[in-house]
Amino acid sequence: MAMNTVGRPTTPVAHDAAAPATFSGAKGLLQPTSLIFETGAIDRTGVDLPPVKGIKPRLGGLARTSSTGNPGLSEPEAVRHYVRLSQRNYAIDLGMFPLGSCTMKHNARLNEKMARLPGFADVHPLQPISTVQGALRVMDELSHWLMTLTGMQAVALSPKAGAHGELCGMLAIRAALDARGQAHRRRVLVPESAHGTNPATAVQCGFVVDEIKAAPDGRVDLSDLKTKLGDDVAGIMLTNPNTCGLFERDIRIIADLIHEAGGYFYCDGANFNAIAGAVRPGDLGVDAMHINLHKTFSTPHGGGGPGSGPTVLSAALAPFAPVPYVVKRADGSLDLIEHEADSDGEPFGRMVAFHGQMGMYTRALTYMLSHGADGIRQASEDAVLNANYVQACLKAHMSPAFEGVCMHEALFDDSWLDGTGVTTLDFAKAMIDEGYHPMTMYFPLVVHGAMLIEPTESESKASLDAFIATMTSLAQAAKSGDTARFTGAPHHAPVKRLDETRAARKPVLKWTPPAEISQIAAE
Ligand SMILES: *Cc1c(COP(=O)(O)O)cnc(C)c1O
Repeated sequence: MAMNTVGRPTTPVAHDAAAPATFSGAKGLLQPTSLIFETGAIDRTGVDLPPVKGIKPRLGGLARTSSTGNPGLSEPEAVRHYVRLSQRNYAIDLGMFPLGSCTMKHNARLNEKMARLPGFADVHPLQPISTVQGALRVMDELSHWLMTLTGMQAVALSPKAGAHGELCGMLAIRAALDARGQAHRRRVLVPESAHGTNPATAVQCGFVVDEIKAAPDGRVDLSDLKTKLGDDVAGIMLTNPNTCGLFERDIRIIADLIHEAGGYFYCDGANFNAIAGAVRPGDLGVDAMHINLHKTFSTPHGGGGPGSGPTVLSAALAPFAPVPYVVKRADGSLDLIEHEADSDGEPFGRMVAFHGQMGMYTRALTYMLSHGADGIRQASEDAVLNANYVQACLKAHMSPAFEGVCMHEALFDDSWLDGTGVTTLDFAKAMIDEGYHPMTMYFPLVVHGAMLIEPTESESKASLDAFIATMTSLAQAAKSGDTARFTGAPHHAPVKRLDETRAARKPVLKWTPPAEISQIAAE
């Protein structure tokens, strides 16, 4: 197999071992791809510019004389490189992406069309305020929708991901505690089923994390919570619906308990897609909650993103919202409060250099306006219905982690795999062979060998049925002793089972020119 200079395979694999080798390294129409440094060369550029004559350098002797080390490629070479890579990847535009807790829903093309309008796409964050009134209007209207859907008093739009939104909410809580002279409150209660970002955020803000146990029904153990309350408690970070895909039935009681103890209620809103339009977190007693626009409001995730994690705040925390934020002037025009000194409140600071992810604001608002409040509620109801359909159809073959109906995610444990020699990881790899991105595995930690499936409302019944049939077939194969299908999987993917621990611990992120590689090898 051909390798690039850092030792990764460059050619696609042949699925039929008996197939003749190809001369080009391609397999059918799947192309081999080397590193971009190997495709381009440092000593050439992708464009031909005539030599510049008669220019007096104005760099004061700072002109670069050595190479930047970037490879030069023509536009078609660069485009092909990335398209070839993309064809080895999985995407929501290719098939179902049942990754739980991530809400991998369809990214509507109407959103893209709106975000590409030159009036939105081509504005610059340093333009005079009078020339970006439309962009500010989008921010103002998005804020209005977010506050209305959540029943909250204020929103900080600028955080750039869910975890960044958590940071924003927890910094607001810290500022509120400090403002009332209670800087000694530094303990934050976090249920053991929480997403890893919750305790990480709390620690990042200088809090100490105290874990609360889960009850046998997958919800917060109220009696354990009560023993953890005290006058050093800053608040609780709770996800609702929680990461087991269950609605926290006692959430009002939990809110009252934490408020009576003098703390604040941070809600991780990553699972808002289960309840948007149906439940307002403000009515449940929440003080701060981030919303992942890239989950609930259909903007692209990750590499297709960037993410955006606006954080809504209750009346108690609203004065501490970070700058910048949009305000309406008496003449109806919109303005930005950019500096803490210009604010009527006590902003704790600023989260980003400019104003956050404008392109995502436009996409999310488009989604909201095209659905309407009733459509958003319908989407949430359909997401919950789809998850329950998956759970109901698979429970004869796999073991649901908890009894009863779920919210927008179906959670299974691995007890049904006992004695088969197949693990959750093996099962997930076999799903790749079948053309499915695996569900979330081994999370939440409170469920052994967890498999968390979130179909979202985007999938049709036909698509869900195909998924269920595939999962059923795999489950039957695992139980009937066809272990090789799992432990050797993926058999059909461009790369086989990876050493994931080594990839995480010792990632090769830097390309070293071959000359240096041979030099290092010689030493
Ligand atoms: C996705 C998620 C987060 C973090 O959101 P990012 O945008 O990935 O930073 C936090 N909590 C839960 C429960 C999530 O699912």
